[in-house]
Amino acid sequence: MIDSADVVVIGSGGLGAATAFSLVRHGPRNVAIVDKHEIASQTSPRAAGLMSHARTSDLMVQLVTQAGSNLRRFTEDTGQPLDWTQSGSLKVARRAQDVDVIESDVARGDRLGLDVERISPDEAHRLNPFLQTKGVLAVMRVGDDLYFEPSQVAIGFARGAEAGGATLLPHTTVTRVDIEDGEVAAVETDRGTIRTRVVVDAAGAWTRQVAEASGIHIPILPTRHQLFVTEPLEGASADLPIVRVVDAAVYVRPCDGGLLWGGFEADPHFFEVDALGASFQIEDTPLDAEVLLRLGEQVAEQLPILLEAKVREHRGGIPTMTGDGEHIVGPVPGARGFFVAGGCNVAGLSVSPAIGEALAAWIVDGEPPIDLAPLSITRFAEPYPEERLERDAAWQYRHFYGAA
Ligand SMILES: Cc1cc2nc3c(=O)[nH]c(=O)nc-3n(C[C@H](O)[C@H](O)[C@H](O)COP(=O)(O)OP(=O)(O)OC[C@H]3O[C@@H](n4cnc5c(N)ncnc54)[C@H](O)[C@@H]3O)c2cc1C
Repeated sequence: MIDSADVVVIGSGGLGAATAFSLVRHGPRNVAIVDKHEIASQTSPRAAGLMSHARTSDLMVQLVTQAGSNLRRFTEDTGQPLDWTQSGSLKVARRAQDVDVIESDVARGDRLGLDVERISPDEAHRLNPFLQTKGVLAVMRVGDDLYFEPSQVAIGFARGAEAGGATLLPHTTVTRVDIEDGEVAAVETDRGTIRTRVVVDAAGAWTRQVAEASGIHIPILPTRHQLFVTEPLEGASADLPIVRVVDAAVYVRPCDGGLLWGGFEADPHFFEVDALGASFQIEDTPLDAEVLLRLGEQVAEQLPILLEAKVREHRGGIPTMTGDGEHIVGPVPGARGFFVAGGCNVAGLSVSPAIGEALAAWIVDGEPPIDLAPLSITRFAEPYPEERLERDAAWQYRHFYGAA
């Protein structure tokens, strides 16, 4: 155990580990990553590993593009392995209003220099023969999109941070961040107190719980998300483009000779993590295969393979949703030195390299390298009743691929 650090990062998932890695690389070396469980063991390794570039705001396109460059040179930077494949992706519209979503994605992507284009349903079928053309009105191809092995990201960043001088403290639970006269003074854990002036709350599903112990409210909802990995299938080559169906909010990508697929149900399951108990781990998350089977039925005409293929793995985790679908990143007003990286909205792993880099620069230089104001917690300054948060977060979840 240590008794002081320049920065204490709470949580060794993608967001915390990437921040710690960038901190030791560019600034203070006396950085501690504290995790109540094994390092990099919770939601991050269970993700689908999709990186989507055609996002709904210029800022997110910029951040994901930056994250994409970071992931491509991950091994060079961290010395750790990362398997990734730039397969590109196909975004499929089946309703007239979703054609508008695709058109605006293409226009924004084009303006921001992405490799995006509208292609015909037949061309999409040629690129990914598992996608059938029946009922398909429009398709966007994104050449920049890639998928990566999710279990390698957080652990790679954490090991890279350790090699750069950071201290890893697994099985150490943060019970409270002490704030004195409006400034962070220390982090209390079940193994002792660490004096520090800066903390990063990157505790994933527990982000809100950690902050609340210091009287800070972070309006996010831990939300179940799950996927299937199929047995190997003939034709499921690694370079097949990812497919996303807008209205059903279903995605599929190649995985180890089979397919990995999941989706966003209309009525998501939220968790109150306190009620799950102190020893709860993400692997204990109650899963529900019926949710995925119902989503598979919704796209049975376009992706019949999803329900035909034999399932090899069913996994899930607890990402966190915000009411507006944007992450929460940056300092918390009224608690100098308290930073947050949360509200991942089921897309935090792919963007973690860029968020980690920006947050580290913010901590070291006192200002972010790019304008992250749209991600600031100050946008929730007005009281946000829990009922409204649930309604808004559910809407964001089921409209994951956009709404006209
Ligand atoms: C099935 C599924 C598919 C997904 N697909 C994608 C995808 O394709 N692309 C994408 O970008 N994202 C995807 N996501 C979302 C992605 O997994 C998350 O955005 C990301 O992993 C969040 O990382 P994190 O660091 O916030 O959380 P975690 O990885 O959960 O890390 C948080 C850490 O904080 C620790 N912690 C909590 N409380 C304390 C405490 N009190 N003291 C000390 N430590 C504490 C935890 O033990 C944990 O290790 C998916 C998620 C799921 C579940």
